[in-house]
Amino acid sequence: MSAVPSTCPICSVVIPAHCEAAGLRHAVDTVAGILTRQGVSFELVLIDDGSADGTWEVISQACNDLPFIRAARLTRRFGKEAAMRAGLQMSRGRTVIVMDADLQHPPALIPEMLRLWETGGFDVVAGVKQPQVGGAKSAGIMRRLFFTLNSKLTGVDLREASDFKLLDRRVVNAYLALPERNLFFRGMIAWSGYKTATLPFTPDERQHGETQWSFRHLTKLALTSITSFSSIPLHLITSLGVAFIIAAVLLGGQTLYNKLSGNAVSGFTTVILLLLMIGSVIMLALGVIGEYLARIYEEVKRRPLFFIQETLPKSENVETGDVHDL
Ligand code: UDP
Ligand code: MG
Repeated sequence: MSAVPSTCPICSVVIPAHCEAAGLRHAVDTVAGILTRQGVSFELVLIDDGSADGTWEVISQACNDLPFIRAARLTRRFGKEAAMRAGLQMSRGRTVIVMDADLQHPPALIPEMLRLWETGGFDVVAGVKQPQVGGAKSAGIMRRLFFTLNSKLTGVDLREASDFKLLDRRVVNAYLALPERNLFFRGMIAWSGYKTATLPFTPDERQHGETQWSFRHLTKLALTSITSFSSIPLHLITSLGVAFIIAAVLLGGQTLYNKLSGNAVSGFTTVILLLLMIGSVIMLALGVIGEYLARIYEEVKRRPLFFIQETLPKSENVETGDVHDL
C-alpha cells in the first residue's frame, strides 16, 4: 500500500468513530462542505471502531449518498489508536488529515492546514490544543496528570498535542512501516521528527453523544505511551534498589551495634514497618518490570492490531492491521 495510485486524491480525512451515530453525519457534511469549497480532490475514510449504536448504519447511508466516502467496520472495539491506523492504511491521499468525529477538532482549520502543507513545505501540520476556557472535569484532571507524568517520563511534551493532524504521504508511510504494536500516534509523529508546523485551536464542546474514554482506556493509553517511549521507570527501580541497600547497611550496622553492646531494642515496630516498606517496593518494582514484559510479549506475538468486518464501497479489500500486509 505504499505506492500511491496516480488517481489519488489530494486529501484523505480519516475519522475514527466509536458510538458516534448522533453526530457523525453532521461531521461528514461539515468536513465535505469545507473541502468542496476548497476545491481540492478528497476522500473521507470513516472507521467504525466496534460501535453498538448504529454508527455503521449512519456510515452506510452516507456512503450511499456521497461518492467520496470509504469506510471500514472493525470486528470489535480495538481502540482509537487501532482505528486511526486502519484509516491511515486505507487512505490514498497525498495528505491525510486525522480528526475526531465529534467536531472538537475544528474542520474550519483544514484549509489552513492544506495551505501550510502546500506552500510552507511542511510534512506535518499539528493541531495544538489551547487551554480550554471553563473548569476541568474529573476526566480533565486525570488527563492533565497523565500528560504531565508522560512528558516528565518520556521527554516528549504532549500536553497540548492532539490527534488532529495533517500528514504528508511520506509521513503516513513511515508511520505505517513502524514495526511496533503498541502505538501512540501523537507520540510517534512527534518522535519521527518530520518538518512540523503547529496550528493552535481551542477544542469546542462535544456536540453529540458522550466521550467514550473510560478511566480504564485512559490508563491503558498512559501505560502504552510511557512504556513505548521511556525506560525511566526501570532505571527508577534500580535507583530505589540502591537507596534501599544503603538504608539496609546503615540500619544493619546500628542493629548489630545495639546487639553487641547488649541493649538490643524491642524494635518490633521498626521490623514491621521495614517489612511493609520493602515488601511494597518489591511488589511495585515487579509490577513495573511486568508492564515492560507485557509489552515485549505483545510485540513478540506480532498479532494484527485489528480485524475488519466489512468495508464500503464493497470492492475494498483491507482485512487486518498486520504490518506485513502493507
Ligand atoms: N474513539 C474511537 N475508539 C475509542 C474511543 C474513541 O474510535 O475507543 C473515537 C471517537 O469516536 C472520537 C475520537 O476517537 O471520534 C475521540 O474520542 P472522544 O471525543 O470520546 O475523546 P476526547 O474528545 O475526550 O479526547
Ligand atoms: Mg471528543
